Amino acid sequence: MEEKRDFGDLKREVIEKGKCALCGGCVATCRLLDYGYLSVDFSEERPVIKEGQQCPPDCGYCYYQCPRVEKPALREGLEEIYEVASTDEEIRKACQDGGAVTSLLASALADAVVEGCITVADNGEWKPEVRVAMDKAGLIKSAGSKYTPAATLTGIADALLDAGLWSIALVGTPCQMAAYEKMLVVGRDTHNAHNFSSNVRLRIGLFCKGTYSYDKLMKEYLERKRGINIREITKLNISEDVLHVYAGDKELLSAGIDEMEDYKRDGCKVCEDFVGLFSDISVGNVGSPEGKSSVIVHTDFGKEVFESALEWGFIEAKPMDKSGVDLIHKLMKEKKEAGIAEKERRKKKLMEQMK
Ligand code: SF4
Ligand code: SF4
Ligand code: SF4
Repeated sequence: MEEKRDFGDLKREVIEKGKCALCGGCVATCRLLDYGYLSVDFSEERPVIKEGQQCPPDCGYCYYQCPRVEKPALREGLEEIYEVASTDEEIRKACQDGGAVTSLLASALADAVVEGCITVADNGEWKPEVRVAMDKAGLIKSAGSKYTPAATLTGIADALLDAGLWSIALVGTPCQMAAYEKMLVVGRDTHNAHNFSSNVRLRIGLFCKGTYSYDKLMKEYLERKRGINIREITKLNISEDVLHVYAGDKELLSAGIDEMEDYKRDGCKVCEDFVGLFSDISVGNVGSPEGKSSVIVHTDFGKEVFESALEWGFIEAKPMDKSGVDLIHKLMKEKKEAGIAEKERRKKKLMEQMK
């Protein structure tokens, strides 16, 4: 019989090898979740167990939950791609691009598909904070990309155990969508003590080329190197490989992301998914004209939610032009190839070290 793995193995095989995506899946599934046994240390940007504690024997939910131990299998789905804009002026003004994520969530809340949405808000210093939004005002507070990691899956436990919700939407990066897929599939097999898988009704994935270490991007690069007061920032946006930093209508900075490559998290360098293939719907800004969001519907349920948002007038949409679709496919391919190449590079380096 195969020996059961535990947090020690997760640490050795994933965290210390620079593969951790900081999705929060292991924390949310920890058997001793109620005791705060496993948590994310944001200064170190890694999951840690309480000092001096030992895991109970025969556990290991965290290990089997991790999408970086073994990727979940991708199920066949749809690929309907649209250019979308919110019809709500307040949402369009507050949000990035077309405001599609916020409007799809607002529609799902209004339609009682979900009772709350796990999103990520800025804590005032652009440090991501996982929150449960229950209405349009809460959704608007969480709008916009942060580009630094948030262990979003920990919000599932907060939504269920603290807010008492039964039906929630999860918005996150592709790695978080994959982590949730593992929760769904592996959680049941391993009789996970905290299998929240039936409570997440809607998954919205966000296109992602990578996240950056908070201290390096916000403190070292923006604050020290570029002299920007991060409390003044109202919006960050990466578009066509350029980071734009705004304070209201004023653009404080426009700089190519190649300048920030060294700040990218190691776990992102091995990532192969650009759009969030494990989501019901994914949203980004590639391929659409300015002021519009790019939306990919992946599942039948995602299609229902999307069509209902259209029918109720929360969004306007049109199928994306071929040039936009081609660009998305190109970036999907490039990210997959880059992730595989980085894994190969690390493998080779390890083998050379062992010689
Ligand atoms: S799930 Fe089990 S093995 Fe993993 S950290 Fe929690 S107690 Fe330890
Ligand atoms: S990738 Fe996610 S599940 Fe795996 S160790 Fe990192 S935070 Fe935990
Ligand atoms: S690049 Fe991959 S691992 Fe990094 S945040 Fe994006 S989806 Fe997650």
